[in-house]
Amino acid sequence: MKKIAILGNGVTAVTAIRDIRRLDEEVPIDVFSDEKYPYYPRPKLIDFIRGEMDEKQVIQYDNDWYESKGVNLRLGEAVHDIIPASRSVLTQKDTYIGYDRILLAVGSHPFIPPIHGTEKKNVHVLRTLDDAKDIKEAIQGTGREIIVGGGILGIELAGAIRKAGGEPIVISNIGTLLPAQLDQGASNILMSNLQKMGMSVLMGFNCKQVQGHEMATGVVSTEGDKVKGDLVVIAAGVRANTKLALDAGLKIGSGRAIFVDEHMQTSERGIYAAGDCTEWKGICWGIIPVAIETAKIAAQNIVEEDSASYEGTTPSNTLQVVGIDLTSIGEYNPQSTEYESIVMANAEEGTYYKAVMKDHVLVGGISLGNKKVAMKLRRLIREGVDISDQRREIFEV
Ligand SMILES: Cc1cc2nc3c(=O)[nH]c(=O)nc-3n(C[C@H](O)[C@H](O)[C@H](O)COP(=O)(O)OP(=O)(O)OC[C@H]3O[C@@H](n4cnc5c(N)ncnc54)[C@H](O)[C@@H]3O)c2cc1C
Repeated sequence: MKKIAILGNGVTAVTAIRDIRRLDEEVPIDVFSDEKYPYYPRPKLIDFIRGEMDEKQVIQYDNDWYESKGVNLRLGEAVHDIIPASRSVLTQKDTYIGYDRILLAVGSHPFIPPIHGTEKKNVHVLRTLDDAKDIKEAIQGTGREIIVGGGILGIELAGAIRKAGGEPIVISNIGTLLPAQLDQGASNILMSNLQKMGMSVLMGFNCKQVQGHEMATGVVSTEGDKVKGDLVVIAAGVRANTKLALDAGLKIGSGRAIFVDEHMQTSERGIYAAGDCTEWKGICWGIIPVAIETAKIAAQNIVEEDSASYEGTTPSNTLQVVGIDLTSIGEYNPQSTEYESIVMANAEEGTYYKAVMKDHVLVGGISLGNKKVAMKLRRLIREGVDISDQRREIFEV
């Protein structure tokens, strides 16, 4: 019988556990995590900071879940090395264990841009439950919270801090909010919606330094502009965790994540990878739908070699800010003339809808302001049918 090691315990790991168990009720599975908590979905950290969930509610699967799946969960036991020749792992407890299959589900970590002073006490990142607890504690009694980064995480965090009674200001070095999800038109309307909700947004501010001695008191831009604040959170994107793979001699792709083929196999036979730590065809998404789909493919191939192939995922993101319904799907802002777009914007109402078509088939879109429009766009993209006769009423729900 095969023995399987899963390194990491995020959504990729738990999806793989579920799928492996569906296919094989007996195979021994060890799960290693450097965190001390059983599985929690990271989006719930936003609800936690917002004050709508306590720590217990954030945890989705407690220890009983792992027991019910017959999984040996080794919390607080990071894997320090993988030895491909013997297909074994060395854990932080100095234990060597051999496996028939290894799944790297080690995720990613926050990227800290080259900004001086990020080591100060009240400068934070948000990735883990411990980070969220630190931020939640730190925002009690602060005057103004500076969030460096206008991506999805930065905006969600600003929304949560605002809801928790803070006065967040989001600063971004570029001119578009959520550049990986929105075009400029949607970004402008989102910015105005956020401002109406009491959040400040400062675009084109290239943060160079965190000011203050032991504690941060503000940030300075490369132009010398200053913003005062009592708390700084860096939300400038993520980088795949590649150290284990690099040290083991596995191939790293051009996107700086672990290279996998269509079977989610790394460059070493029997060692698989899925989720945020991977790149497939040069793409490294860092989102949950991709983590789930790649974990499912990896699980099938771990149980039965080369039995499933990954064909890609249509990326989809929904912003979790109370009072704002924003979804971006697939090709939301293509630059090539092969695509055609229909846009309906209403600055006063704060709504923005966009449908992107290729050969009369919907391939992407943006919906700001109405969940039902988002659902309709998602359905039409999934169906992949000719929508020529629906163009006029594409945003009607
Ligand atoms: C606050 C927040 C909100 C988010 N919201 C959304 C959202 O709404 N939609 C969306 O699509 N995505 C969202 N994301 C991104 C999403 O959470 C990630 O895409 C997802 O968590 C990736 O899952 P994963 O299992 O691949 O990696 P991770 O969740 O990063 O899990 C990997 C785990 O492996 C552990 N690990 C690393 N190295 C080792 C080692 N050597 N030994 C043992 N364990 C190790 C890590 O500590 C971590 O616990 C959000 C992220 C955050 C932080």
